[in-house]
Amino acid sequence: MKRLMIWLILPVFITAGQAQPLAPCGTTEAPTPWLKAYQQNPSAYYRANNDTLYVPLAIHLVGQDNGFGYMTMSKLLDAFCTLNEDFQSAAIRFYIKGDIRYISNSTYFDHNFGEGYDMMVQNNVSDALNCYVVSSPAGNCGYSSYGLGVALAKSCMNASDHTWAHELGHQLSLPHPFNGWEGYEHNYSQNAPASIGFDAVERVDGSNCQFAGDGFCDTEPDYLNFRWTCGANSRSNIIQKDPVGAEFRSDGTLIMGYSDDGCQTRFTEEQIGAMRANLLTERQFLLYNQNPPVPVASTNLSPIFPQDGQLFANDASFTLEWEPIEGARFYIVEATVLPNFAITLWRAVTTQPYVDISAENLIPNKTAYWRIRPFNGYDGCVGYSDIHSFQLGSTVAIRESSGPVEHLEVRPNPIAGGQALTLSFYTARTLPIRASLLALTGQELRRQSFNAIPGDNRLAIPTAGLPAGLYLIRLEGAGAVVYRKVVVE
Ligand SMILES: [Zn+2]
Repeated sequence: MKRLMIWLILPVFITAGQAQPLAPCGTTEAPTPWLKAYQQNPSAYYRANNDTLYVPLAIHLVGQDNGFGYMTMSKLLDAFCTLNEDFQSAAIRFYIKGDIRYISNSTYFDHNFGEGYDMMVQNNVSDALNCYVVSSPAGNCGYSSYGLGVALAKSCMNASDHTWAHELGHQLSLPHPFNGWEGYEHNYSQNAPASIGFDAVERVDGSNCQFAGDGFCDTEPDYLNFRWTCGANSRSNIIQKDPVGAEFRSDGTLIMGYSDDGCQTRFTEEQIGAMRANLLTERQFLLYNQNPPVPVASTNLSPIFPQDGQLFANDASFTLEWEPIEGARFYIVEATVLPNFAITLWRAVTTQPYVDISAENLIPNKTAYWRIRPFNGYDGCVGYSDIHSFQLGSTVAIRESSGPVEHLEVRPNPIAGGQALTLSFYTARTLPIRASLLALTGQELRRQSFNAIPGDNRLAIPTAGLPAGLYLIRLEGAGAVVYRKVVVE
């Protein structure tokens, strides 16, 4: 019941919607009984300092009722990579348990604390830390409900953001360094009060650091309960005064504080000790799998289909297929028409080394580029593969029997550079014909016009001077067009 009461006294946050900037964090829970007991005597706790602790995450991507708005897998992996980098010094490694879960629910997508509570109770996985990626978690970048889960705003989960690490820090028992000051208004030119409510205020000389603020002595005093920009030496520009008037600036490097994400780099030794002890005692049920899988071997994409430069109709559907990559449990597959992937027109996630694609998702008559990003649940840092391409054209979509030209054949194919191509075809009547040889860009490189006679016709097209590559033969007559691909070697 305590948790519910905490939400009920937070209506001030609930009014914040998508239109307003998100607050840094909505977590206002007091230090847990477990942490208070731990901080009485940290040295009594086993922390397995030489072992990496592998911790399962259940990841729920929340979209709107209509299925839109989900964070993309690729962005999630980037954020996941940052998360594990943030916890590297703690030797805690998070892994994605099972599949990513998708929830289409507009209420959860932009929720208040009560709706967020429902979201977690309805969807939580019992043997993992539950992470919900939404649009607006009660107007914050994120919040943590201890023992229940964390809610995260996708807009605060860029690769350079530390919101995810911050909220999982809460989930592993860490308070804010400014604990007690959440929501408290203060004129920072004045001395701080000796205490706020029941919480003692931490002093610069460290005399009460074991129980004031976050209860850690290696986090310095910090009273800043709003997002702040750090200045020189990663310190706050704002000067604060402790209860006896000693001046200080807050340490912006702490992930559990509210400095700009660009300033945040670390957890302290004492914070790390508490998180590890928390996992090894109260959260020990999470440590059931300490055997990471084979890492993803490489990002080398070896296409099986299609071959580079292969031509498809603008409305074709086919299957992209590649050599499986050792250690990969999933592949993100992306295709677009910009070789730098500045805009991705199509993407899919597959557990198999193949996936169906429809060219209608791309742009007609363009070169399409595709790449993959292999990953398994332990590592989001594996990047994209090299890029391969195929060609889209209106060409092969034309039905050949519809025109007066029939049985068009191009020989030899492939052809050695410098040889003449022979076109053979049949018409039922006398017909003016234009034959062209085109680059894949559509540029006309050779052209011949002549009158075809009823019956079989033959025509030679020289290829001298053409670089090796894929070309198109176009035959036009009586309003009909027929294309053939030809490879010059
Ligand atoms: Zn927080």
